[in-house]
Amino acid sequence: MTASPAAPRLPRNISREFVTGAVTGAAALLLVGTGGAVLLDAIAHVTGDGTGIDHRLIVAMLLNVALILFGVLRYRALSVELNEVADAGMRDRILAQRDPLTGFLNRRSLSEDGATLFGSARRRGKAVAMLMIDIDLFKGVNDLHGYAIGDLLLIHVAETIAAIVPGSSLLARLGADEFACAFIFDPSHQEVADRIAERLVAGLATPFRANGIEIHTSASIGVARSDADCASIDALLRTADIALHAARTNGRNRHAWFSPSMERTLQLRGELETGLRHAIPAQQIIPCFEQQVDLATGRVTGFEVLARWEHPTRGTITPDVFIPIAEEIGAIGDLSLSIMRQAFTAARDWDAALTLSVNISPLQLRDAWLAQKIIKTLVETGFPASRLEIEITESALFDNLPLAQSIVGSLKNQGIRLALDDFGTGYSSLAHLRALPFDRIKIDKSFVASILENPESMAIVNTIARLGDSLNLPTTAEGIEDAAVEERLCAIGCAKGQGYLYGRPLNAAQVRRMLAEKRLLAHQPDSEFPALRDSSPRLAS
Ligand code: C2E
Ligand code: MG
Ligand code: MG
Repeated sequence: MTASPAAPRLPRNISREFVTGAVTGAAALLLVGTGGAVLLDAIAHVTGDGTGIDHRLIVAMLLNVALILFGVLRYRALSVELNEVADAGMRDRILAQRDPLTGFLNRRSLSEDGATLFGSARRRGKAVAMLMIDIDLFKGVNDLHGYAIGDLLLIHVAETIAAIVPGSSLLARLGADEFACAFIFDPSHQEVADRIAERLVAGLATPFRANGIEIHTSASIGVARSDADCASIDALLRTADIALHAARTNGRNRHAWFSPSMERTLQLRGELETGLRHAIPAQQIIPCFEQQVDLATGRVTGFEVLARWEHPTRGTITPDVFIPIAEEIGAIGDLSLSIMRQAFTAARDWDAALTLSVNISPLQLRDAWLAQKIIKTLVETGFPASRLEIEITESALFDNLPLAQSIVGSLKNQGIRLALDDFGTGYSSLAHLRALPFDRIKIDKSFVASILENPESMAIVNTIARLGDSLNLPTTAEGIEDAAVEERLCAIGCAKGQGYLYGRPLNAAQVRRMLAEKRLLAHQPDSEFPALRDSSPRLAS
């Protein structure tokens, strides 16, 4: 938005045009005088009473006509100019209040108009619902498809919101991909606001098409109500923002109502976020190792690497807490490479037949240099690429499949294998299975754990194992907690398994001790390929 140059020009123009008006007025008066005299002379001349028309009077009259014409033209130009100035003033006012892209209010105007709405709701014994709407992973759309498509998406989002919410709502765009909507509702009918939030989540999850590109979006919404949660519009905005945060951290594509406990959670999250930036270079985030077992022979084939944060005051923090924070603050790449470096270093002298499986966040597959970074870490630590397996989830395939395919192509060229993790929980699509050259399918623990008591889980696990068979992809079942489950999985042809039955994840020192006891350290003289010769059913933890 630029300041209009028209405003300071106005007084100067008006004073100048006052002179024009005065000259025109005087000219009109003179015209009446000279015109009258010329007219009388002309009549006398025609009737033969006069001596003739005075030429000086005709010149004076023509001069007056010219002056009047000039005045009229100048008046019209001035009117146009004044209208332009007024329009520019109006435009400036609108620009100062509204977001130019969507026409929604901006933050300041929402605060002002919201205060009026807030007061009016109070007087009428009603409540204001404030919905804070955030487009999930919007930055990725800009990064991937460019700002023009990003803008089209934002306009589409604004139109979708406007079509769903009550007509009298205040609508605002507060940041790049953050919108707000406020409306009055009956405090005893919170379900009204609930329904609107649900319809918004559903409406914004519909794929959007622009320039032949289909974009899958979703939105997270935080909702707060004026009567329960706050005393002013600004406090209402803040509580809706906290609720939005909760909706995001609970998995996105949903709405959440504000509750006071969210404030404490948010504070804790802030502390973890700050701590995480320091924890990664300080190697407080360490790899733990979960055994993976050949179900037919009971032999340990390798380990899945699982990150743990050994926090100096809070104890051990699990990855489901800090991985999403690392993803959000853009630290997941550094964290992952730090974990890999530590894990590869630790496993360098383990038995040469033991593999490592590492988890990769879908966000890392947006890094065109990921393969090079992993290969560099392997070279620097001296860990063979052939002993590494990368685990990715189906959600990694939605973003930028060509880039994911190129990264995976580079990894596979080096002999690194690829597993599809948590299969069965997401889309479980055949197309996804074929999109990348997977070497293995991992069946999610939520099905494995319940195969004995839940026939549906059994059917799913069975189907995935059959699918693996027909695609020539071995399967690994996660979350095996008891021997009966292990037996059943063996019977249906699952190749590998992992879970607490074989022991909890161990840190590097604990794994080393365990491997030493089992004579599975590479430098032990009598341990040539011991993992392959190990006849014990499984390793004790
Ligand atoms: P995941 O890759 O599916 O890992 C398996 C999770 O199941 C691990 O949880 C493991 O401890 C747990 N688990 C294994 N066996 C059993 C069992 O018998 N019963 C039960 N109830 N749970 C079992 P964890 O370590 O909390 O990891 C959770 C998720 O965090 C992982 O799921 C993975 O998606 C992610 N994660 C862990 N480490 C990393 C990492 O370094 N990078 C990334 N990007 N993600 C990681
Ligand atoms: Mg995994
Ligand atoms: Mg898994």
